[in-house]
Amino acid sequence: MREFIQGSCLCGKVRFRVANHFKVFNLCHCVQCRKITGSAHASNLFTDMEALEWIAGQELLQTFDHPDNNFRKVFCRECGAGLPFQSRRTGMLLVPAGALDEEPGLTPQHNIFWREHAHWYDSACSAPRSDRFPG
Ligand SMILES: [Zn+2]
Ligand SMILES: [Zn+2]
Repeated sequence: MREFIQGSCLCGKVRFRVANHFKVFNLCHCVQCRKITGSAHASNLFTDMEALEWIAGQELLQTFDHPDNNFRKVFCRECGAGLPFQSRRTGMLLVPAGALDEEPGLTPQHNIFWREHAHWYDSACSAPRSDRFPG
């Protein structure tokens, strides 16, 4: 297992590296995570703040703090991709798993806020698989 792994946004202008000793890996199905990702769930890794080192593009980071609760999202101002930030609730570093360029040394442990999950997601894992657009 790699000791440090790299991550980046979609346009590649923001880059970081993070220690590969994550403590928690949650798939969050809450309404906020579904809205902000435009998908079924967020895939959130958690570790200590000291684990993170920015390599490039820190000036492009944009923060959204929800006015009514602790929800936060940090993203690249250029391409909109989610990037690591300090969780308002736990104070821990939250790393969106999709931002990583390599596989983390931890697999998902919990599906949280399941009561809010999108019901279309129930058949996602059993839908036919393809390596390109079908048809
Ligand atoms: Zn970007
Ligand atoms: Zn959530």
